[in-house]
Amino acid sequence: MTTVLITGASSGIGAATAVLFAKGGSNVILTARRADALQKVADECTAAHKEAGLQHGGKFVTIQIDVSDRSQINGFLERIPVDLREIDILVNNAGYVVGVDKVGDLSLDNMEAMFATNVFGLIALTQLFIKEFKKRKSGHVINLGSIAGREAYAGGSIYCATKHAVNAFTGSLMRELVDTPIRVTEIQPGMVETEFSVIRFKGDKSAADKVYEGLQPLVAEDIAEEIVWAASRPPHVNLAEVFVLPVNQA
Ligand code: NDP
Repeated sequence: MTTVLITGASSGIGAATAVLFAKGGSNVILTARRADALQKVADECTAAHKEAGLQHGGKFVTIQIDVSDRSQINGFLERIPVDLREIDILVNNAGYVVGVDKVGDLSLDNMEAMFATNVFGLIALTQLFIKEFKKRKSGHVINLGSIAGREAYAGGSIYCATKHAVNAFTGSLMRELVDTPIRVTEIQPGMVETEFSVIRFKGDKSAADKVYEGLQPLVAEDIAEEIVWAASRPPHVNLAEVFVLPVNQA
């Protein structure tokens, strides 16, 4: 029985991934800051599991956590119900970007908050579970990188820096674990239409929509499929990096 823990499961890619794992018969621990939104996704997981008619899996629990808050990481393991503490797959998906600001206009608070969530939160969660994975000699860490971790764009200096950091961290982790059966994957999406797009433009939906002019963005389910695909490869196969673009994004 597979148990998956997903950060940022209250919307977008994390939510779609939770539902897809549920459909496949996994137990899912859904985490994020918004309790109501998490519960809604957990209910969708229950419905998807029921519809699939599977006898295994079907446990969906929500845990509220702000991954940027170190005090909430300490003691997090103890908040997981005992029967679900043996996590098989950790999906480090929580992340965001706020503002498309030139370097001279960057706010120090925004920079710190983006690094605290996208980088330090991801690292802290990985550290929590990697010890357990090593003891059990199994496990899979799946980190959400981005096209912004492969290249950089004007106005995205901090977000790009956070995703480059995710790329470097994930690469190092994979190499550190090369003699173990533990797998490490980085998923690198191009443009995906989610709440992310509107948050980036500080709630300005028309500015967010302009980014998609002339191209059809991916949807969250496209990335969820890649995550579940990577997790379901035979144990000797590690999809190290999965770079996914809309067909008309270069
Ligand atoms: P969404 O805004 O829909 O989802 C982001 C999720 O992260 C939400 O569930 C949010 O939940 C959670 N989150 C944000 N900050 C925190 C925090 N401090 N602690 C815990 N949870 C947090 O965006 P996406 O689904 O698009 O983004 C998911 C990942 O994919 C991110 O890492 C993003 O960088 C990456 N990505 C997205 C792309 C896109 O174009 N959309 C492209 C490339 C990568 P809550 O607010 O409830 O805490």
